[in-house]
Amino acid sequence: MKKFVTLIAGAAIATTMATVALADDLVVGVSWSNFQEERWKTDEAAIKEALDEAGAKYISADAQSSAAKQLTDVESLIANGANALIILAQDTDAIAPAVQKAVNEGIPVVGYDRLIENPDAFYITFDNKEVGRMQAREVFKVQPEGNYVFIKGNAADPNADFLFSGQMEVLQEALDAGKIKNVGEAYTDSWLPANAQRNMEQFLTANNNNVDAVVASNDGTAGGAIAALAAQGMAGSVPVSGQDGDHAALNRIALGTQTVSVWKDSRELGKAAAKIAVEMAKGTKMADVEGAEKFSGGPKGIEMNSMFLAPIPITRDNLDVVIDAGWVTKETVCQGV
Ligand code: BGC
Repeated sequence: MKKFVTLIAGAAIATTMATVALADDLVVGVSWSNFQEERWKTDEAAIKEALDEAGAKYISADAQSSAAKQLTDVESLIANGANALIILAQDTDAIAPAVQKAVNEGIPVVGYDRLIENPDAFYITFDNKEVGRMQAREVFKVQPEGNYVFIKGNAADPNADFLFSGQMEVLQEALDAGKIKNVGEAYTDSWLPANAQRNMEQFLTANNNNVDAVVASNDGTAGGAIAALAAQGMAGSVPVSGQDGDHAALNRIALGTQTVSVWKDSRELGKAAAKIAVEMAKGTKMADVEGAEKFSGGPKGIEMNSMFLAPIPITRDNLDVVIDAGWVTKETVCQGV
């Protein structure tokens, strides 16, 4: 049972009916899908810090890339007293019943980074289509012709298709003109680098190593693709994209084996999501969240309250941006250069 407090003539009286939940009593449950990915640790630190500042408690669970585990994770977070949930969905469809259960119990839900298309959930993310455009643009600048390979994200993550559609917006004209050719395209099961590496190996074999550019959808999969290229002595001569500003990826950019990492300052995303979760747990309506905008660009076209942060492409020319932002040290970026 949630604890509420009403203020009557200066005295706080506990009751189950009044309207104000004290931040001190609030518990925010965060359900991670694949905490092994480097970026989520940064997101978590930001969420924890913001909750701490708001006097709210952080509880969490990691589904370890299992959509089934995530369902029970969310139920446990609810059972452990979560007054609001932040969910990074492993599988946007599979998570639906858990989200609906929370909604039915009046527990606000923030769909974190990945779309959960339920009109009663808030959606906060970066502009993923723009991330895709940035990835394709930087690769195309370096390699405006030849054979392209697309290492896409996890199929159950709507970001995979948002990214790909952004990439296609940039490349369609060159594809239609026959300047570039799509010689391989595959989703990466659970975004795992090892799966990306295997897909890349297959594309290289199928094309007798005639691959001129790789549009990889994040830094983890870029790492897998680059390992496959390196095994053929091709790392550094084929442009590869990524995203997240993973430290290893920024180092690869400095070394010349990766072309771009689209940086999303997840410290900002985590902070904003935590604030929104706390506000909503205290009764703020989704549409009244400061900066909320309407979004209906998901596969089902459902209108959602949302917030989008802006991504920044990082190439060899502007590595100072992430260093100056305190995201990574110069030593880490330049290691081995
Ligand atoms: C996120 C990426 C992340 C990927 C794998 C995507 O939904 O937007 O930042 O690299 O998931 O965890």
